[in-house]
Amino acid sequence: MENVVVIRYGEIMLKGKNKRFFEDKLVSQIRHALSDLGKLRVYKAHSRIYIDVENYNVNDITDRAKRVFGVVSLSVAKRFEVDMDKIKEIALDELKDRISENNNIKTFKVESKRGDKSFPMQSLEISREVGGYLLENIENISVDVHNPDVSIQVEVRDKAFVFSNKINGFGGLPLGTNGKALLLLSGGIDSPVAGWLVGKRGVDIEAIHFHSYPFTSDRAKEKVIDLAKILSSYCGKFKLYSINLLPIQKEINEKCPEEEMTILSRRFMMKIAERVGVANNCDALVTGESIGQVASQTVKSLYVTNESVEMPVFRPLIAMDKVDIIDLAHKIGTYETSILPFEDCCTVFLPKHPVTQPKLDKIVKSESKLDVEELINAAIEDMEVEIITIED
Ligand code: ATP
Ligand code: MG
Repeated sequence: MENVVVIRYGEIMLKGKNKRFFEDKLVSQIRHALSDLGKLRVYKAHSRIYIDVENYNVNDITDRAKRVFGVVSLSVAKRFEVDMDKIKEIALDELKDRISENNNIKTFKVESKRGDKSFPMQSLEISREVGGYLLENIENISVDVHNPDVSIQVEVRDKAFVFSNKINGFGGLPLGTNGKALLLLSGGIDSPVAGWLVGKRGVDIEAIHFHSYPFTSDRAKEKVIDLAKILSSYCGKFKLYSINLLPIQKEINEKCPEEEMTILSRRFMMKIAERVGVANNCDALVTGESIGQVASQTVKSLYVTNESVEMPVFRPLIAMDKVDIIDLAHKIGTYETSILPFEDCCTVFLPKHPVTQPKLDKIVKSESKLDVEELINAAIEDMEVEIITIED
């Protein structure tokens, strides 16, 4: 008998002729996620992926594998030669183990699946027989088919599988199946969530951050790196580009109306991101914008911001409420870092009354007072690049 992690994937199954490609990508992403542990055996069989636990720590395996996009759920199972007596015995061990972990367990049920139709018993019969055996051998326990404390799962395929746990993954599609996008990553709550959501659709992510050093501190920059590392635990190794926006902000401050500071800075960020994105094979930009959240995110502001670039801009949070974004930030583990109180570049020249209903022609006119090309080139010339991985 051996321990094995069983991985289920959902949407990939719908891919028809491309299914193989997605499955292979998922296997290689799981292997990659486990690579720091050692060379584990990860393989596909009957629309599942299996990881042999061998002598590795099973929690280390599940902690990593559950973060891989495309994984819907996983279970740690015992696998052995198909034999009804053995199934009963292992199921009994499994239930005893669960009871010894938690003595509040009073009810159970057995659910069975028969993948091998040549096996003489039907699933319902298997469940009944195993259930009966468990009742005979454990005291003070009863069957509850609707709301059991433990559900013992039996699967009969080329081998028999017994397990009683299920860890949820995040679903989505494996990375590397959908091109690459550049995330505008601030130190806030929204943009890490936006990047994560696009990554979850199989898109490789790179990130660009704008700071106003020395007005923004080194700690503010480290916070962004910390957020990038959390993202990297899902999205793999990626590049983080850092741009100093201060010279541009100073120019805007000097030559343009005060209330247009924010919207003009936003347009510069987008243009610079587009330039960097094109140079690095990205086909879209990603932002954490959400309708109405702040002055720079009214529909008119979003329009004026959007008009600054030609590249598609993905805004996965566009119609989400802040509370729901915060929930997601908790779920993926970025929230606590996002709320650390460090200044952001946008707060450096924050206008008292930013325009909330900007007109494109007026903003473009203000912009024309600046040497946009020259400013963008200079900013990109000073750009710093860091490789983000979780390891260090
Ligand atoms: P967040 O919580 O992501 O910071 P926000 O609510 O503070 O968002 P804004 O400051 O208007 O909203 O920014 C909107 C989006 O613009 C952000 O989600 C992010 O994608 C991008 N952005 C804003 N500031 C920066 C920055 N300093 N560097 C990179 N991208 C930024
Ligand atoms: Mg922000």
